[in-house]
Amino acid sequence: MRSHLLNGLTAEHYRRSVTEGVERVAAKLATTDRPFTGVTVDALSPRIDAIDLDRPLGDTAAVLDELEDVYLRDAVYFHHPRYLAHLNCPVVIPAVLGEAVLSAVNSSLDTWDQSAGGTLIERRLVDWTAARIGLGPAADGVFTSGGTQSNLQALLLAREEAKSDSLAELRILTSEVSHFSVQKSAKLLGLGPDAVVAIPVDHDKRMQTVALAHELERCTKDGLVPMAVVATAGSTDFGSIDPLPEIAELCARHGVWLHVDAAYGCGLLASLRYRDRIDGIERADSVTVDYHKSFFQPVSSSAVLVRDAATLRHATYHAEYLNPRRMVQERIPNQVDKSLQTTRRFDALKLWLTLRTMGADGIGQLFDEVCDLAREGWKLLAADPRYDVVVEPSLSTLVFRYIPAAVTAPAEIDRANLHARKALFASGDAVVAGTKVAGRQYLKFTLLNPETTTADIAAVLDLIAGHAEQYLGVSLDRAS
Ligand SMILES: *Cc1c(COP(=O)(O)O)cnc(C)c1O
Repeated sequence: MRSHLLNGLTAEHYRRSVTEGVERVAAKLATTDRPFTGVTVDALSPRIDAIDLDRPLGDTAAVLDELEDVYLRDAVYFHHPRYLAHLNCPVVIPAVLGEAVLSAVNSSLDTWDQSAGGTLIERRLVDWTAARIGLGPAADGVFTSGGTQSNLQALLLAREEAKSDSLAELRILTSEVSHFSVQKSAKLLGLGPDAVVAIPVDHDKRMQTVALAHELERCTKDGLVPMAVVATAGSTDFGSIDPLPEIAELCARHGVWLHVDAAYGCGLLASLRYRDRIDGIERADSVTVDYHKSFFQPVSSSAVLVRDAATLRHATYHAEYLNPRRMVQERIPNQVDKSLQTTRRFDALKLWLTLRTMGADGIGQLFDEVCDLAREGWKLLAADPRYDVVVEPSLSTLVFRYIPAAVTAPAEIDRANLHARKALFASGDAVVAGTKVAGRQYLKFTLLNPETTTADIAAVLDLIAGHAEQYLGVSLDRAS
């Protein structure tokens, strides 16, 4: 069994095993002609349930054969140009290389004595990101598992900085289309059920600053304490960017912590042409960035950045066995002092190798391309009488709905759109997402693949229309 332990004696076994795995994945990528096979839960579960976990196969080739059957063949492939659903990007090769290195060396980024250079590399990338945002000389931050954790940590800091001891009085103001992790965070932070105040959005799904100003004043009048405003730079559903300069101005006037959730919009930090769309982000007290959404990084890769490094102390606890106080005096760097996690992956290595191979401009160029693609897709949709499209894209998301000429009952149109999405998924020809707009069922493309073309978009729109029409034909038959 020791031959399976990775060490100096097994280096050759390691090379062979990993190479075999890489070969399989490479072959898969080269031959995948659809983003999904359309496999159903009922078809796949018995294959996975039938495997006896107490009877190992022992041999890498046999294990990979089995993996083909239970996973690789039917996985959902984000690299495919017709995967248009969620905020999943195709990944860049330098980052995948980083993933292989980081799990083999297996550094843990909590302490210097478990990572050494890893800690310093992460710190450089935190500083690099903070500088791109423009957070100023006192900025700091830490890598996290994702935007959800970044938002939670930012709101923890905001809560600790708030001038109130009564959790019931605290309020978080955020737009009605902000990410649900804001509500989860409020719950985890012990705030009351009414803590998150939803600010209405305008026609373009951007927070209405007049409504925000009104709510801030109302809070003060009612003896409540606005603990944070969470502005979204790239909403999950629409890619809409809240008016950051106006929001920052209001936060400054009311002395309220401004958190900018740029989990999606952070790609603009590297943009060559559209950086100005997130102007104002430099005035935030904290910022969430998800490199695994718009920097073409594999899951997970995310960070939370803060304007004032001192605020990170709210996440600091000392343990004799890990990060005793004396280490601060000895100036030994510890990322665990800034993190909600203890043992933590060296995700930063992926971004490091990406920047050292392609540079930030390389990432920005790819992200600009998907923003341009979304604009072209929007034009297609706007000119297509079969579709209603809601918001002109600020990033790379399109939200639309099939509207048949002959059917006017909104509920029936909802069902046709839902059916089209499901039928498309079952066919495996393309994967699209769905959402509701003003209570009605819409469909969504999240375009993060520069390999997707306008021809792909046009083809998928035809497929959707075909499925919807088929459904309506069937259901009209049934009604008659
Ligand atoms: C995806 C997303 C999150 C959550 O990020 P995870 O990495 O999925 O945890 C938070 N905010 C916004 C706006 C997002 O789009």
